[in-house]
Amino acid sequence: MSAPGRVVVVGSANVDLVVDVPRPPGPGETILGGELRRSTGGKGANQAVAAALAGGADTTFVGTLGHDEAASLLLASLERAGVRTDLVERVDAATGTALITVSPGGENSIVVAPGANARVRLTPGHEERIASAEVVLAQLEIPLDVVRAAAAARRPGALLALNAAPSRDLPSDVWAAIDLLLVNEHEAAELAGTPGDAEALARTLLARVPAVVITLGGDGCLVAERDRAPMRVPGTPVRAVDTTGAGDTFCGVLCAALARGLTLPGAARLAGAAAALAVTRPGAQAAVPTAEEVAAFAA
Ligand code: ATP
Repeated sequence: MSAPGRVVVVGSANVDLVVDVPRPPGPGETILGGELRRSTGGKGANQAVAAALAGGADTTFVGTLGHDEAASLLLASLERAGVRTDLVERVDAATGTALITVSPGGENSIVVAPGANARVRLTPGHEERIASAEVVLAQLEIPLDVVRAAAAARRPGALLALNAAPSRDLPSDVWAAIDLLLVNEHEAAELAGTPGDAEALARTLLARVPAVVITLGGDGCLVAERDRAPMRVPGTPVRAVDTTGAGDTFCGVLCAALARGLTLPGAARLAGAAAALAVTRPGAQAAVPTAEEVAAFAA
């Protein structure tokens, strides 16, 4: 059997509080919604669950939680998926919380209280674990300085994959640290600074990073590497039930597959299969399939 590959995911963890509403509330308005649902989320935690459970990688989550019940829920979810949580820090702040209303058409309105996510920092212990990984995966729900520090701590030859979500302007030193950029079409257009089709966006982004994967929802993704022809990986047709966390499942599995030695197109195919399976199930972390399910589905 091949080695599992080591991935460190540096990022956010949130508890999602979700209420169905007849329509989004207007300014100053109070409306009655349905029953409150609570689930575990946050891009970092979702991606760590995906890398471990669906991607089969030896995965460490680096993030910060409070001392509340939300933190216990998140730790339980990460540990159930087989994620290493020994380096998770706890601070005197509320665990990150996303307040989500869902309207009948399925449209979400979301407010995130970052709480403990704003206090993520890297200790020498984190840096040592990062230096042991083949792939370090970060997103933008944590301070940019932490992304910089994670990039600096990786060992030579290890990849820094940045899922640039939610999108924001990136300073040039962060651009220079990225080995692999993972974005959806909207994020790609914002970072490229111009609209365009996926191929045009990828060409623009390849001037700044050596490799980029642009996800295209049900249409799959575009894999683009410098000095190679860009490659479309088609989506897998499924009956979508809930696309929450599809992008996170994709990113986590892609990085796990790269850590195990797959090529970028091969990893993107596996990640697409895992994400397609995830959209057939409700929830974010709860929807992530196992590596066995992904292998059977992708076969
Ligand atoms: P989200 O914010 O909903 O988590 P995203 O906008 O970051 O997602 P998408 O491009 O929508 O990312 O989806 C990521 C990947 O998930 C796609 O590349 C594809 O492989 C898979 N996927 C998403 N939606 C579908 C779908 N309806 N059917 C099949 N696969 C899908």
